[in-house]
Amino acid sequence: MPAAWKRVVVKLSGEALMGAGTHGLEAATLSRIASDLANAAAAGTEVAVVVGGGNFFRGIEGADKGIDRARADSIGMLATVMNALALEQAIDNCGQPARALSAIAMPSLCQPYSRQAALHHLAKGRIVVLAGGVGHPFFTTDTGAALRAAELSCDLILKATKVDGIYTADPKKDPSARRFERLTHAEAIARNLAVMDTAAFALASENGIPIIVFDLREPGSISAALNGTGRHTLVTAA
Ligand code: UDP
Repeated sequence: MPAAWKRVVVKLSGEALMGAGTHGLEAATLSRIASDLANAAAAGTEVAVVVGGGNFFRGIEGADKGIDRARADSIGMLATVMNALALEQAIDNCGQPARALSAIAMPSLCQPYSRQAALHHLAKGRIVVLAGGVGHPFFTTDTGAALRAAELSCDLILKATKVDGIYTADPKKDPSARRFERLTHAEAIARNLAVMDTAAFALASENGIPIIVFDLREPGSISAALNGTGRHTLVTAA
């Protein structure tokens, strides 16, 4: 593992931002995550964050409400923009410049995503917060994270979860579940380990981008994962 990662994508689910709440945003959680991201950037790593929207809305919920999937996914993508704006503010509040970029153009709220704009901000030391996933329905922000990691030539995806890595089974349901220290993309796909969706895994695998799966609820866990400390699972090509 390199001593320092040059450029990384951090994937945060929307749920990660709601803290102990049942939906929406929690200020203390936002500021804790923002300060961890700011510390990672201050240590010299270029940080792109891809944020989900599940704390507000997931497209799959649309069916129960009589909303077509494609339209419901549009609502889901809008939810990711709300989170990106909140996170941009929280990171700014830590004294670290941040820019939200949206795959769905809404220029009065934030800059539309382009690869050039993202690379420009990263080179200036700004954290970019990427909203809208890939910008199309029927995708997820996990796939968005893998896509952005590939197109921005990132050397790592940090996938934040509520457990400290990838297990043989769900550790909350199966006490005999064992945590992997390390495994390959191919093993993760073959074992159907549902830590990211298959499209995201396939994209990371095809582009040889390693993934670190870690527990975001541990304070300082983003920096710890980048430094190779703390408990996590490292997924690599071989
Ligand atoms: N979404 C989409 N296209 C994308 C990314 C997201 O349509 O490229 C929609 C989809 O409806 C999804 C919602 O946005 O359910 C929120 O994203 P996601 O479920 O990935 O958020 P997370 O679970 O990470 O909070």
